[in-house]
Amino acid sequence: MVGMPVSLPFTAADIRLAAGDRSYGRGLEYVNAVDHLEISDTEVTANVYGSSEYTVCLVIDDQRLSGGCTCPYGRDGFFCKHCVAVGLSVLELGDELPRHLEAARAQHQAVDAWLQSLSKEELLAELRGLLDENRELRQRFELRAAAMNTDALAIRRAVMDFIMPPRGEYLALRRGLPLRQRDIQRGRGDR
Ligand SMILES: [Zn+2]
Repeated sequence: MVGMPVSLPFTAADIRLAAGDRSYGRGLEYVNAVDHLEISDTEVTANVYGSSEYTVCLVIDDQRLSGGCTCPYGRDGFFCKHCVAVGLSVLELGDELPRHLEAARAQHQAVDAWLQSLSKEELLAELRGLLDENRELRQRFELRAAAMNTDALAIRRAVMDFIMPPRGEYLALRRGLPLRQRDIQRGRGDR
């Protein structure tokens, strides 16, 4: 792929469409406040310095451009002025863009090769280290773990509703059930 012409599949018109005229106009004023721009084929991340420091992530797919930002407006799900500023910063790279994309690909491949070389235990140790030192990442994983547990609980309840006999039979059967199954049924009453 090295040396091939590359262009991101978005334009200033795409940014304006995603943001609306008002945010687009305000975003123009923040282009110079963009820092730590990282670009891959499908994702752009950067920091934008406004009344506070915000993190922006733009996601690019064939159909459309979408963006997320840690500012209040961005957290409400809008493509905010910071997203606009980051998008415009990417476009400003112009002829430099292919070089950025190549560098990002090379880095990605190097990291991927390193991860592939690690054992499961080594991967877990790396991941735990990251979670210890990065509060935001830790919270994301906690949310995922909580979501997993909720799913598991919901599935378990659905299964129990399906296989449970009517209440009278349940009481009669309960004494004879193995401990583990009794625990599950006891949990069912807590909903
Ligand atoms: Zn924002």
